[in-house]
Amino acid sequence: MLDLDNIQLAIQGDSYHCPIKGEIEFNPNGLILVDHAGDIIATYRQDDLQYIQVLAQLQHANKLQVLNKGQYLLPGLVDLHCHASQWPQAGKGLDLPLYDWLQNYTFPLENRYQDNQLATAVYQDVSQRLLANGTTSAVYFASIYRQSTELLAKACLSIGQRAFVGKINMDNPEQCPDYYREASVADAIEDTELFIHNVQSLHGNQAGLVKPVITPRFVPSCSHELLKALGGLVQQHDLHMQTHCSESDWARDYSKQHYNMTDIELYAETGLLNHKSILAHSIFLTQSDITTIKQVDAGIAHCPLSNMFFANAAMPARELLNQDIHIGLGSDIAGAPTPSIFRSAFDAVSHSRVREEGVSIYLSAEQRGIANSRISFNEALWMATNGGGKVLKEKIGIFAPSFHFDAIVVEAKVQVGNLRIWPEFDSPQDVIEKIIALAQPENVSKVWVQGKQVI
Ligand SMILES: [Zn+2]
Repeated sequence: MLDLDNIQLAIQGDSYHCPIKGEIEFNPNGLILVDHAGDIIATYRQDDLQYIQVLAQLQHANKLQVLNKGQYLLPGLVDLHCHASQWPQAGKGLDLPLYDWLQNYTFPLENRYQDNQLATAVYQDVSQRLLANGTTSAVYFASIYRQSTELLAKACLSIGQRAFVGKINMDNPEQCPDYYREASVADAIEDTELFIHNVQSLHGNQAGLVKPVITPRFVPSCSHELLKALGGLVQQHDLHMQTHCSESDWARDYSKQHYNMTDIELYAETGLLNHKSILAHSIFLTQSDITTIKQVDAGIAHCPLSNMFFANAAMPARELLNQDIHIGLGSDIAGAPTPSIFRSAFDAVSHSRVREEGVSIYLSAEQRGIANSRISFNEALWMATNGGGKVLKEKIGIFAPSFHFDAIVVEAKVQVGNLRIWPEFDSPQDVIEKIIALAQPENVSKVWVQGKQVI
């Protein structure tokens, strides 16, 4: 017998998820039961023995939410890399090289976040836009300003988005503008410790829906002393750490010239690297770096569209997936302009196809690309959901008992938008490929985070 008192929410409908990398599991008319804490108690397939009995009990108790045909339940999407403060910059200056883009657009904008009113307006908007696109979990960079970064954590908590929020640390006078850097290592650490405490003790955050993240911007913007002190905080508080890693030729060469190390070697040496590290980009990794990432169980945020503008090269996603490195996806707002992880998934596929086929018409077809380097739509959806959960070490990204119920309904039959499903032509696999390729916010009709409906 079901303990009906224990059930907060029960949904019957067509669902998809990716428990195994590269495979889609379609569950027509499946049942998902969620408890009052927002965690999944049980899932049933139509052909399970108890299905009919459980369904009857839920119907009798009037506890069932039934999805219509043409509505598809998916795990909520995970954005592993988003600069919330750069949201007003999305779509601007993408012709510039990274250094000029940062100096001309990004640093002057981030410096505006001393203004808490501006911060509240931008941060509420970015959290809501990501949710509207189906992103139930987001990992955010904010700015160096603690107070307004706490407002980002507050905004996510009140809107109901699972969030990992970082107050940026940067102090290197050679690389950071005078007007936008932390005054000293001691100030940076004191402020960051206060930030950690304040986010963890936010009213309503007892379950830890919003978590603080240690956030050294990237190697060039931080002194070695600051990296080391932040590594101490990571160890002391068992926190997530996010940073940019080997993103471009320039970033890779900077670490080589200044430390005679790779970024990964430096993050390991300073105590920053562990199983909760979220390494954005990670394009120029050595084989030894990959081995280290695997050993410590760290994860990578793959941001394919941003890579096309700023990375100087293409991410070897195929090779990393083959080595079972945890990889999820990032929008990298505003290094890329689109706040959609469906779009990142689509870009990850097309990006890998360009790698495989190559680009130069002056080479023969055999010499042009890198054989067997494509990734599939199913692998892209795995990264957007389950892979992101594995990077974060959170129970999100699949529908399974004890996992948090973070989910979205994608709906094909809406007037506005381009997603069209033709039941006479489209198999379950076709449907999921179309969702990745065509779903827009208009198609995301419901969103739950930790069992609570937020859209
Ligand atoms: Zn970034």
